Amino acid sequence: MKKLVLASGNAGKLREFGQLLAPFDFEVLPQSAFNVPEAEEPHVTFVENAIAKARHAAQLTGLPALADDSGLCVSALGGAPGVFSARYAGEPKSDARNNARLIAELAGLADRRAHYVAVLVLMRHADDPQPIVAEGEWHGEIVDLPRGEGGFGYDPYFLIPELGQTVAELPHEEKNRRSHRGQALAQLLARLRAGA
Ligand code: IMP
Repeated sequence: MKKLVLASGNAGKLREFGQLLAPFDFEVLPQSAFNVPEAEEPHVTFVENAIAKARHAAQLTGLPALADDSGLCVSALGGAPGVFSARYAGEPKSDARNNARLIAELAGLADRRAHYVAVLVLMRHADDPQPIVAEGEWHGEIVDLPRGEGGFGYDPYFLIPELGQTVAELPHEEKNRRSHRGQALAQLLARLRAGA
């Protein structure tokens, strides 16, 4: 099997990517197994940050690398919190304070459109001129009152109008199937199947 380093320390992501990429003959290993420290994420776009993380892991390990970056973009806020989604209300990061800030920023605004974005980057080596870049979007609306116990982050406030449910109210298999990350991953797998 070809080794692939995951530019993340998240155990859930490691398990999920490991299972999905095994049929493509990839053994997915966490960057912590190579003592790779977390990369800087200095950019204002998801794709730039995902590329920076993948390149950092590929450079330090000499292996192909996979990275992801994701967040929430709110139309009336010019795309904020965007790449700052995890720390919208500052350090230490807190979903509750992020959500409180989001609702405060949207007070009195009628336009509640928002979407989640996920970008995945697979780089064959640090100088790969054509990494595989896959992107998923999931559109909804921000509601003022939280509903549901599932998911994480902004999910209790993120309503999917055609389902009449917030993402926190969806069973997790359904979230995975519909979500920005699920879509980006499906796109990445399709590209691998096509021989990218
Ligand atoms: P990361 O890409 O894992 O660093 O996630 C960035 C941040 O975006 C998270 O901390 C959440 O605030 C937000 N986010 C990304 N995906 C989701 C999601 O599926 N539900 C809720 N929040 C999300």
